[in-house]
Amino acid sequence: MNLDPMECDLAVIGCGIAGMAATMFAVNRGLSTCQVGSPREIGFASGLLDLLGIHPISEAKPWHDPWAGLDALVRDVPQHPYAKLNKSDIRAAFDELLEFLKSAGLPYSRHPEYNSSIITHIGTMKTTYGVPETMWKGVEAFEQKKPCLIVDFTSLKGFNAGLIVNRLKPSWPGLCAARIDFPVNRLMAEVLPEHMANTLATPNNREQLAQLIRPHVNDVEFVGIPAVLGLYRPTDIASDISQRVGVPVFEISTMPPAITGLRLKEAFERGMGEKRAHYFPRNHVTGVKHEKTGRFKVSIGPDNVSQTVLSKGVVLATGRFIGGGLHGDRTNIRETLFDLPVYQPETRTKWHRVDFLDRRGHLINQAGLETDDHFRPLASNGRPAFETLFAAGSILAHQDWKRMKCGAGLAVATAFGAVRAFVDHFRSKNYVSK
Ligand SMILES: Cc1cc2nc3c(=O)[nH]c(=O)nc-3n(C[C@H](O)[C@H](O)[C@H](O)COP(=O)(O)OP(=O)(O)OC[C@H]3O[C@@H](n4cnc5c(N)ncnc54)[C@H](O)[C@@H]3O)c2cc1C
Repeated sequence: MNLDPMECDLAVIGCGIAGMAATMFAVNRGLSTCQVGSPREIGFASGLLDLLGIHPISEAKPWHDPWAGLDALVRDVPQHPYAKLNKSDIRAAFDELLEFLKSAGLPYSRHPEYNSSIITHIGTMKTTYGVPETMWKGVEAFEQKKPCLIVDFTSLKGFNAGLIVNRLKPSWPGLCAARIDFPVNRLMAEVLPEHMANTLATPNNREQLAQLIRPHVNDVEFVGIPAVLGLYRPTDIASDISQRVGVPVFEISTMPPAITGLRLKEAFERGMGEKRAHYFPRNHVTGVKHEKTGRFKVSIGPDNVSQTVLSKGVVLATGRFIGGGLHGDRTNIRETLFDLPVYQPETRTKWHRVDFLDRRGHLINQAGLETDDHFRPLASNGRPAFETLFAAGSILAHQDWKRMKCGAGLAVATAFGAVRAFVDHFRSKNYVSK
């Protein structure tokens, strides 16, 4: 079935953090926007918003002040995508994102000038920047080394309070652990975070949980539990349970796929619901043509239904290998939609270093699209491939977001830069929004 073509100012391809952020920036600037992609990868995200944790990766040097880290990064790696933005742009991008998430019911906290340390489900401390409000009391508890109880649940896999306490106790002596049965699902062989989150939407179940935790709260001032405090309104649920338990209860992210990533997806979709965005979730762009008129003709599947979108610009936010924006065959790495040139090691033998844990990382993790200063991917002649094609997020070259701990920050900041470049172009041509 072929549906009538739809016209819009900007088509955003990809529903990861970069695509979601690009759509938000675009609609906030009054552009009619279509977004296509499957948000499944975002479900793996921890919900933490990293800005910059490590640089240089070969020294694994951590930065408490990410803004000072950015100065060093831009000086040392001028090709890094962050180098195409001012710090004030990156701050503005974060402010706008956090405001949007707050209005969509998912508030975040942060030290605006510093990174925070957060407990992980494997008992390490992770450096990050934006922290879901439901986890923030854990940051405070750690900073002040307050007496704190970590609780886990029988039958919840991948989260062991005893392990967390054992690993962290040397630097945080006031920690202790307890294991309880999760109420309602007590007889189940395995409990899943999503089911637990749904269960805790009901006040009666929250009271049952609080009753099970209370006997373990002796002299502690905080309680940390796995991130299961509801898919919707988690801050309200955390505050309700805290009142019932008698001390602040905070969340610790679980292993992926985690409820925290699902919350981000839900919040983006909820926040976009009332704005000027046409959203094609669980769909795929099957091809894009650049017409003589300068517009892009974007074909959207699944195979049995096809929708065409005519747009003045495109933001390509299709990610790397997991997202599907890049594909590696036996010899080469390709960009999957436009067949754009991909910056990559000269030969396949250089994709990975011999030692998997090599501190310098693997060169394949720096592969991606090179762009001009306006985030326009370059063709093989070194000029922008198209006047109004922009790229954002992990598909960009010269960054290893996993090792640098800059995943969400890079996605959000480059989406901001790409949309701003399109808006500037749009205005310079005196286009009228559709
Ligand atoms: C397990 C895990 C844990 C993480 N933890 C953190 C963390 O703690 N902190 C942090 O800051 N970051 C974290 N990240 C990284 C963060 O999620 C990144 O910012 C992100 O992966 C990069 O976002 P992206 O939008 O560029 O790409 P992706 O998330 O890969 O999204 C790419 C999107 O493009 C879509 N797509 C691809 N091809 C097409 C096509 N042809 N048509 C339509 N759509 C298409 C895909 O469906 C997908 O929606 C984590 C990531 C993972 C996987």
